[in-house]
Amino acid sequence: MSSLESCDPEIWNCIQSEAKRQKNGLELIASENYTSAAIMEAAGSILTNKYAEGLPGRRYYGGCEYVDVVEDLARDRACELFGAEYANVQPHSGSQANMAVYLTVMKPGDTFLAMDLAHGGHLTHGMNLNFSGQLYNPIHYGVREDNHQIDFDQIAKLAREHKPKMIIAGASAYPREIDHPKFAEIAEEVGAALMVDMAHYSGLVAGGVHNNPVEVADFVTSTTHKTLRGPRSGFILTKKANAKDVNRVVFPGIQGGPLEHVIAGKAICFKEANTESFKTYAQQVISNARTLAGVLLEGGIKLASGGTDNHLMLCDVTAIGLSGKIAEEALDKAGITVNKNMIPYDQRKPLDPSGIRIGTAALTTRGMQEDEMKKVGAWILRTLGAPDDDANIESVKGEIEEFAQSYPVPGIE
Ligand code: PLP
Repeated sequence: MSSLESCDPEIWNCIQSEAKRQKNGLELIASENYTSAAIMEAAGSILTNKYAEGLPGRRYYGGCEYVDVVEDLARDRACELFGAEYANVQPHSGSQANMAVYLTVMKPGDTFLAMDLAHGGHLTHGMNLNFSGQLYNPIHYGVREDNHQIDFDQIAKLAREHKPKMIIAGASAYPREIDHPKFAEIAEEVGAALMVDMAHYSGLVAGGVHNNPVEVADFVTSTTHKTLRGPRSGFILTKKANAKDVNRVVFPGIQGGPLEHVIAGKAICFKEANTESFKTYAQQVISNARTLAGVLLEGGIKLASGGTDNHLMLCDVTAIGLSGKIAEEALDKAGITVNKNMIPYDQRKPLDPSGIRIGTAALTTRGMQEDEMKKVGAWILRTLGAPDDDANIESVKGEIEEFAQSYPVPGIE
């Protein structure tokens, strides 16, 4: 019996059930992935016992000689992977990485320009209940109604009119490659700082299949757990000249002790992402998304922007007579996990929107390729074609469970 099982069988049971869910189903949530066994080992290690306020070589606690090496490896590897001058790897999450940059660049009440949540932006891009909407004055840009692509004319117009302190590129639900140089041009023209939140597509940048924002942005933030496939966390890349200011905001500004066990996981993640096999994975993520998008389009589902060139697609399921909520629930019953999502210019409400968001990173990590995507697409269409037919959904679920056994999940027997 494991120490966890004997100490806390209730939690142990939850973990066993979740492992079964992860193994037997199809994970299509665009922000999720399966991290490696090595990363999980580090993130669950004795490094969790250590306090290390401060930075390597300048800590407020003794006994930091080994965690200093861990954090330096993480910083150096992040810089090497993305070609950055400086990295702070202490943010506990993507939201905290964003908060640190906002507090570095802006004073309360300052204006920033970012993508509208309803068009694919993130909560930290100025949603009214988020710190970013409460402390600052967010102005939102969106996508064009005719092609659902980022509207750079609107961004330039808003930037000239509002003179923001900072412009933010990056999104949570945008299925196209983002033109970072175009953002940089506009930011330069109006004298704004440019921050790119590459949380969703940092794995594609690392794999060389998405243009690299580090080349043009003042600050780049990211999570580590989405396409990048690391532990659940965040980091910031910037120029050496901004290092002091960013560091001071992260600690003592918004955080206390860094999570050195998670930073060890991030160091491993950056190492894994700097390999040929990671490049192959990144290419496959995109190729899988294109294949799956093709199957869904043929099945009558409409896609925002008409398709995808990254890891995700936004499906308008009203085209087949459903709502996003009904689609999410039916797919969940069949063992296919997605999330309901607003589509641009949605007439419906966030809790029951017109769409679902689908991503291919997690299934790609399990080794699935184009042929498998065709099967996955067929199961999605079969489920959504009869969302009330429990017998049909049970049969899809059974087929998926059997199929899924051939695609291992790291760390799960
Ligand atoms: N930025 C973007 C674009 C995201 O999509 C997310 C998470 O979904 C975040 C930031 C925040 O990450 P976290 O959930 O780690 O705070």
